[in-house]
Amino acid sequence: MEKYEGEKTMKLIHKGKVKRVLEDPESKDRVVIEFTDTVTAGDGAKKQEFTGKGKLACDFSEFLFGYLEGKGIDTHFIKRLKGPQLMCTKVEIFPIEFVCRNLVAGSFSRRYGTEKGTVLDSPLVEYFMKNDDLHDPLITGESIIRLGLVSQNDLEFMTKVTLSVNYYLSELLKQQKLTLVDFKLEFGKAENGEIVLADEISPDTMRVWDATATSLDKDVFREDKGDLIATYEKLLTAVKTARSEDVEARLESVYIIVEPKPAIKNPPGEVTRKALIRLGFAEVEDVRMGKVFNITLKKPLTSEILKHLEVMNVKLLSNPISEKHKVRFE
Ligand code: UDP
Repeated sequence: MEKYEGEKTMKLIHKGKVKRVLEDPESKDRVVIEFTDTVTAGDGAKKQEFTGKGKLACDFSEFLFGYLEGKGIDTHFIKRLKGPQLMCTKVEIFPIEFVCRNLVAGSFSRRYGTEKGTVLDSPLVEYFMKNDDLHDPLITGESIIRLGLVSQNDLEFMTKVTLSVNYYLSELLKQQKLTLVDFKLEFGKAENGEIVLADEISPDTMRVWDATATSLDKDVFREDKGDLIATYEKLLTAVKTARSEDVEARLESVYIIVEPKPAIKNPPGEVTRKALIRLGFAEVEDVRMGKVFNITLKKPLTSEILKHLEVMNVKLLSNPISEKHKVRFE
């Protein structure tokens, strides 16, 4: 096999099912992710080597992370190395897999008995707990927060970014008459506290159908229905020849809710309370009146934009002495 940068000097940090994470000898803030030729399915029950698959998954991740970065989404991707390796920002991976679905397939179809190919009304984000011993169970957002796996703010942020990724990937594929059925994302927190898209994006982690609902992804291996390498190569060519510059930026809506702090008198709320009682709504005990800003962003949400929203609050939108605020995404 071809030798690539630093092969001999890079220490193994983590060995996953299909990727290895290596220490970057030049910086402790970076890692090198190496893609292997292994393909697994069914929670590792089915496993096979396909020569060249690692390079293809690496090519996809390099191209798609680069494309998403170009659209304003923060990722861990820094640069491609010579072999099937990506230099990436070192992050601590959140213990949740974010699965986004547009059409019914895979475990969703099995779990709910819904017909494969059914189009969902709007994209759905499901969460799975990353835990091999428990076989990565489906988990609700509430449970994630109660178990302290991820904070509510971080979970809402990553969910919002997942939906942005869905839009940008779907639109790119649509140009080639391909449909993004579903995909899985992982996020990580960098040393500087920023949350970025991490792991990989390839046909190993997403389902893509052509106009005849033929799979161009790992389902050809899961269901023994084709040549995996030829399929991945076909999809890579399609993705790389799509006109990424024609995919328009999507507007994103965020809400900033400003309320008077509990100890602060709130005359407008008091006037409203009295008026409601006069109208006969005897059940009303108290009313506090605040304000809501619905801010439309012309870029996907990033940790930096979140910081900007906090500065907007302090500088203009709320009075930090008398008011509290929260940022909500939908
Ligand atoms: N997926 C993944 N890794 C996992 C589980 C799922 O990359 O550990 C991807 C999978 O390739 C598909 C999407 O997430 O694109 C939804 O997978 P699903 O829950 O339907 O599970 P599966 O069909 O793999 O059992």
